[in-house]
Amino acid sequence: MTDLPVTAPVIPASRYAERLDRAAEALTQSGAARLLVGVGADLRWLTGYGALPLERLTMLVLAPDRRATLIVPRLELAAAQLAAAVAAGVVPVRTWEETDDPFALVADAARLPAALAGEELLVSDRLAAAFLLRLQATFPGARFGLASRVLRELRMVKDAEEVELLRRAAHAADRTVAGTATGRLLGRSEREIAGEVRERLVAEGHDLAAFAIVASGPNSASPHHSPGERVIERGDPIVLDIGGLIDGYYSDITRTLWVTGGDGAPDDEFRHLYGCLQEAQAAATRAVRPGVACESIDSTARDVITRAGYGPRFIHRTGHGIGLEGHEDPYLVAGNQEPLREGHAFSVEPGIYIEGRYGARIEDIVACTPDGPDVLNEAPRELMVVTGG
Ligand code: ZN
Ligand code: ZN
Ligand code: ZN
Repeated sequence: MTDLPVTAPVIPASRYAERLDRAAEALTQSGAARLLVGVGADLRWLTGYGALPLERLTMLVLAPDRRATLIVPRLELAAAQLAAAVAAGVVPVRTWEETDDPFALVADAARLPAALAGEELLVSDRLAAAFLLRLQATFPGARFGLASRVLRELRMVKDAEEVELLRRAAHAADRTVAGTATGRLLGRSEREIAGEVRERLVAEGHDLAAFAIVASGPNSASPHHSPGERVIERGDPIVLDIGGLIDGYYSDITRTLWVTGGDGAPDDEFRHLYGCLQEAQAAATRAVRPGVACESIDSTARDVITRAGYGPRFIHRTGHGIGLEGHEDPYLVAGNQEPLREGHAFSVEPGIYIEGRYGARIEDIVACTPDGPDVLNEAPRELMVVTGG
């Protein structure tokens, strides 16, 4: 963090104290006895601690009265102390030595009666099964539920600093797309280009690259194509879907290129398909405002594509929430009637895929504001026709 510019939005320790308060309040309302949060986005959101996912247990224990304890292996103490909430004394830490039983420490920190009679413990959704089984053995009388019951509503609404971190990541991804698209593409394999994308993501300001989909020619019709040995030729489309992390927050952008090699211009069908796609993506983005159901953003995009005759070629939902996880709530998908709220951040990414031939996708990250969409990506959305030379 020290090499960030001084204007960098850093989430202050006071924010973690507020989040713990709100989580404790939501826990009280849920009627559950404790929140048990393992390594992952929930822990980072509550404390600022981006802990390593180890086989050793790290766990935040939170009670409805807001009493919190962070349990960490002894060798992780120094790392944990760098987390904002720990450094500021908002959350006390207890450590366990290599030969200790960390689950006994959890039981102690939870301060629950030995014989639980049906009280509910909420565990973070991505807690490893190995840890959950040990917790079940530690609290044999308890019922277990998911922490998302109390945390999802809270985590979905991004505060101003979170939106700024998402914006910084989005801009770094924008620059990565621009640099990659204008570089040499012809005669290089998808795998080589994906390697370059990962380097550029970091060079442009990400802490690390998270993914780099480079799908060329017929592979562009496969939304999550894994870059391979296929070499880029004249007249190839390329779907670039890339992202990285800044301070734990994800970027995720998709742009579609066409590599002419001088004279291999896009055919009329591709131009038509791309025009419909761009219209669908723009219409869905414009529809973003508080109170609009998630599913209606999806149907706004889908209606445009369906009217153009490509309905069955749009084979995935329109978008996913984004934040400390690459995919999180809310999901823009048919059946999700949940209304958008100020602070929701998500992708808007329709695609059209003609199997065996080619495909295209356009993806931006959008934050919902009282006045409508705040589109965090700035890279142009037109088909990027490049020579590739
Ligand atoms: Zn995807
Ligand atoms: Zn993506
Ligand atoms: Zn996405």
